Amino acid sequence: MTDLRDGPIRVQAKGFSWSTARERHYEFCPRAYFYQYYATSGGFEKYSAARQLYRLKHLKTVPFWLKSLLGECIRDWFYDAASDVPIERILRRLFSWRFRKGIKSLSLQEWREDSKKLNLFEHYYDHKDLGDLLEEVTDSLTRSINNLFSSGLISQLEKVIQVDKIIFNPPLETNLGNLKIWFAPDLIWRESGKVNFLNILIEEKNELNADSIMLHRLYAMNQLKISPENVQSFGFLPSTGLYYLFDENSLNISKCIDKVTQSSSKLFELHSASEELQEENFYKKSGKCNSCRFQEFCKNRNI
Ligand code: SF4
Repeated sequence: MTDLRDGPIRVQAKGFSWSTARERHYEFCPRAYFYQYYATSGGFEKYSAARQLYRLKHLKTVPFWLKSLLGECIRDWFYDAASDVPIERILRRLFSWRFRKGIKSLSLQEWREDSKKLNLFEHYYDHKDLGDLLEEVTDSLTRSINNLFSSGLISQLEKVIQVDKIIFNPPLETNLGNLKIWFAPDLIWRESGKVNFLNILIEEKNELNADSIMLHRLYAMNQLKISPENVQSFGFLPSTGLYYLFDENSLNISKCIDKVTQSSSKLFELHSASEELQEENFYKKSGKCNSCRFQEFCKNRNI
């Protein structure tokens, strides 16, 4: 159970695992990394500090919400049995249904009762009017959907037969030696003897980098028993409609493994220092506090 007093948060150190998202959080700010991954682990009591952190850690930015919406709708359609209804109509219905569900949840502020319900960073911290914000989101979503249909992604996916669709629940787990690693692709399917991973990107092309695609290859090798040369990684950037195959030639596996090893060792040191993880050991790296989801909790904390 997370310590609920006003003093420094203490959490029992449990198993260690790594992901590119963890590395990014740590680089952003070690204290934010602690709040995101550890401060609420093991549960909490109502009205506690940990409850506040739990609520904040689920804040989503608008681009992340759009990425999630697209991913969920594409998965809903992709894994469903074939139907006679035109694909574009099915997908547009799914987008509209999930989008309206999100708006309803936001308007009712369901996140106040259930922290996992949608709450937008831009509304919570920047106090953007919800109506104006949703108008912007509607425009972005419409653009993203149109980009999706003209990108070539859907026409490629519609040819995939049911038996070649690999069903999974993100995030996925794989390992590098004894190190447990998490990653979250949006789709996986087989095609012409290859296994394909799709990543829907949030804001820029370089989110799909060599480290992420090395994880696709590790997973294919460890869990699917497929050799790395039969793995392909695709990226889709909704804001521009860019849909592309990651260039294999820029992949240097041993360099990626070194990077993961160094990053995981750095993060693991914070675990091995003591039986429990201590808030103050994760230093505050201010500078980007205005874009941090934990600013409300952190700003008045003298720890
Ligand atoms: S508010 Fe600033 S110092 Fe605090 S966790 Fe966030 S980025 Fe780190």
